[in-house]
Amino acid sequence: MTAAKQISVHEAEINLLAEYFETRRIEDVLELSAARYSPKLVMTSNFGVEGVVLLDHLMRLAPETPVIYLNTGFQFSETDEVKERLRDRYKFQLIEARSVLTVEEQAKIYGERLYETNSDLCCRIRKVEPLQRALAGFDGWLAALRRDQSPTRAAIKVVEWNERHQLAKIHPLAKWTRSDVWSYIVKHNLPYNRLYDDGYTSIGCWPCTRRVGAGETERSGRWAGSRKQECGIHV
Ligand code: SF4
Repeated sequence: MTAAKQISVHEAEINLLAEYFETRRIEDVLELSAARYSPKLVMTSNFGVEGVVLLDHLMRLAPETPVIYLNTGFQFSETDEVKERLRDRYKFQLIEARSVLTVEEQAKIYGERLYETNSDLCCRIRKVEPLQRALAGFDGWLAALRRDQSPTRAAIKVVEWNERHQLAKIHPLAKWTRSDVWSYIVKHNLPYNRLYDDGYTSIGCWPCTRRVGAGETERSGRWAGSRKQECGIHV
């Protein structure tokens, strides 16, 4: 007989909460998350439009929540620009997570274009490992993923146990559509990354992000020409 998997009290609680969270509004999800996890609640964002919507709600409901930003050294200047505009507007506590290797050190060890020769390793060095360190000590992680962004995200729950980081991962925008997000941005006149006005529909590091043509899917400009669809921090 195979032994049943032992789950922690924390994980068991999240499994119970999952069904409840599924039917709640974003405000309820954030209030409950803050009540349960603050001050060990954190949001991550690269300040795409979904992140802006989540941040706008979070700063009204739990403004003490810090925000982790993965500074890979390969971000677009437009991304840094919107990050600063959002900081001015909301005054949130920013945690910039960086790799232990600078871009120059990485180039000396692995070559100038690791993002082309081994993008999984590059993402591991510049995103996955820095995030692992930044999330240490937190119990709740807010991320602005939507189910309709891509097939890789279609099964995310509003709240789920994250085995890798041993915490609750919360997706308050899981049920939102792209159109919902843009309607909210326009209605509230919120800042957004200027690259969205220049043909980009999903924005990551500049070497691995391109504009999207008519008829292409939302995340098809990420790692275009390869089979890679995710950097490894979410799925
Ligand atoms: S998205 Fe590209 S540049 Fe950024 S960490 Fe991953 S491989 Fe490197």
